Amino acid sequence: MKIENNSVVSIHYTLTGEDGEVIDTSEGRDPLNFLAGASNIIPGLEQQLIGCSVGDKKDVVVQPEDGYGELQADLIQTLPKDMFTGIEKIEVGMEFQAQGPNGEVQFVVVKDVADDGITIDANHALAGKVLNFAVSVEAVREATQEEIDHGHVH
Ligand SMILES: [Zn+2]
Repeated sequence: MKIENNSVVSIHYTLTGEDGEVIDTSEGRDPLNFLAGASNIIPGLEQQLIGCSVGDKKDVVVQPEDGYGELQADLIQTLPKDMFTGIEKIEVGMEFQAQGPNGEVQFVVVKDVADDGITIDANHALAGKVLNFAVSVEAVREATQEEIDHGHVH
């Protein structure tokens, strides 16, 4: 059967960035399962897999607007050092959980440590990036009603 909305799909994938470096891969792991049409995966990838069948291999290029969004400058902030009291040593690349404006959990990464403050970035690590997926479709089945109700694969 072909992938359509409400299909449960299993894929193997390798994700590479613009300069060919491997960002993520399912190689050596279980395939990635998702419910098509339920926003389980980024839209640019899902749209390109609609109509594919088991055994299909496809290279999919996803632009930032169909992936993890553009980099948002307002998610990069420099905060005074005294907001980080209690943390022994702050280094570039450290990740923190912070609370976003609506109380949601945000992951932020330290971009710069300077005398006048610490710069953190709450953008998704893949925001602003063109993503190249090499995908192979491993399995396709119809979702159960319960899966459709829940919006995810059981
Ligand atoms: Zn469920």
